[in-house]
Amino acid sequence: MKLDALFIASHPDDIEITSAGTAIKLVQDGRKVGILDLTRGELSTRGTLQSRKKETEAASKVMGIHYRANLGLKDGNIQNTEANRLKLIKVIRETKPEIVFAPYPSDRHTDHVNASNFIRESAFLSGLEKIKTGKLNAHRPNKVFYYRHAYETPVSFIVDISDTFAKKIEAISCYGSQFFNAEKTSADEPETYISTKLFWKDLETRARYFGFKIGVEYGEPFFCNENLKMQANNLFNV
Ligand SMILES: [Zn+2]
Repeated sequence: MKLDALFIASHPDDIEITSAGTAIKLVQDGRKVGILDLTRGELSTRGTLQSRKKETEAASKVMGIHYRANLGLKDGNIQNTEANRLKLIKVIRETKPEIVFAPYPSDRHTDHVNASNFIRESAFLSGLEKIKTGKLNAHRPNKVFYYRHAYETPVSFIVDISDTFAKKIEAISCYGSQFFNAEKTSADEPETYISTKLFWKDLETRARYFGFKIGVEYGEPFFCNENLKMQANNLFNV
């Protein structure tokens, strides 16, 4: 399937938390959008692989995305090896995205850090014809945009997600095993930061903070290593 944008994440639910507002917005604009999770999140404190899979499917449905796959790498040990890069290059060549989204390369979780360089390198190498992947032709995405996890990151642009913030929350809520839900949260499982009420408040505060910076209700920040081309008539919309 040919995609316009491929969001790539270390763990199922990373995209929902960091950039789902943008993914949903792209879907609503008629773009073909996909998510590739690099691992199944098997090291998560709460939930099981089975419950996580069901939650991921439900969240994908809420977002209305056209493609979701899992690369099956090891949670807690995402390695930028040639074998792993070939796996990712195959997905990039199959889906031919114009834009790839990746985690920013500085973060508390080492998987996010390692995934960032792994994705950037694979996206670049995917454009080299002499790297063979059977019948799949070389394809290099035009841009890699970085979404933000926990650490402060430089920001190149902020997407207005005021229209899609409610749906983003709905998608995150599908991960009942991970996040606080007054009805579903089980008292038997160990509490983590994201399973507390505080997490939801922080999530909203962050979205409001970036929305505030561009004069709208909610926003999601992104970074790009390259300068972005601007058409003169767009200067009136920024
Ligand atoms: Zn993660």
